[in-house]
Amino acid sequence: MGSSKELRVDSVTSQLQQSLLLFSNQTWMAQTPPWSLSLDPQLSQLKGVVHPNLTDSDGRPVILMNPTSFLEDRYSSLLAHELIHILHKRFRPNEQWWVKEGVATLGQHLLTCKYSINYDWSYEKTDASLTFEPKDIDPTQYDLRPHYSLAQMYFLFIYKSCGAEDLFLNLLNSSSLKVGVEFIDTVLKRSSEENSQLPVFCSSFADSFKQFQIARYRQNFFKAEEHIMLTKRFGYAIYESRQPLAPYSAIIYEKNQKCDSRDIDFDFAKCLQIRWN
Ligand SMILES: [Zn+2]
Repeated sequence: MGSSKELRVDSVTSQLQQSLLLFSNQTWMAQTPPWSLSLDPQLSQLKGVVHPNLTDSDGRPVILMNPTSFLEDRYSSLLAHELIHILHKRFRPNEQWWVKEGVATLGQHLLTCKYSINYDWSYEKTDASLTFEPKDIDPTQYDLRPHYSLAQMYFLFIYKSCGAEDLFLNLLNSSSLKVGVEFIDTVLKRSSEENSQLPVFCSSFADSFKQFQIARYRQNFFKAEEHIMLTKRFGYAIYESRQPLAPYSAIIYEKNQKCDSRDIDFDFAKCLQIRWN
């Protein structure tokens, strides 16, 4: 006699099989180390996570998920995200948080064509730092969504503009000991050297970050380098004047006759202030 518990195991198994079949369309997924999935109905705070210290009896990394959130996620985008973390960790175990999350959200999109992160979030906290590190914060109290959203947008932007799959594979597989901004700078330089057709702003992190902020605020669908994705125009705050900024962030302020010489003339009424470090 089939109980509801057995039915649930069946539906998890069939969704898992379908998702893994879909993911295997990307040849680089074959490099994923062995892993195991643990479904825990008690897991409430997070929908899913690669446990940082937990391995199974064979030493494999464990993805912990709530079975309900697994079954509600038709495209298994959360599972895809966690698998990219496992794949990324092979060569880049010491990478910074924003790079890990940027690579995972980009890989998740390549596997499922879906995002679980909303772009609007990055505009809710307009001066959110791209390179934010969630050290010493309580994740139940602190809203990380603007930071996830910003990392997702930046990595999608460099993927789209600066080398697509070649760039993604360099991000995943590089043996460089550099991390964070210095690492991204190295990867971009390498992509630019390998492909002379790439736009000039792809040759360094600083230039890519500047173009990213222009694209993020401009959303000009007629120029590939001035938008991130084809979607609605996002709302953003316009400040009255320049602001003290967090590292690697940007804001728009009202032009008062002219923009400060350090800033970018955005349009007839606005200036773009960027902090690079
Ligand atoms: Zn993640």
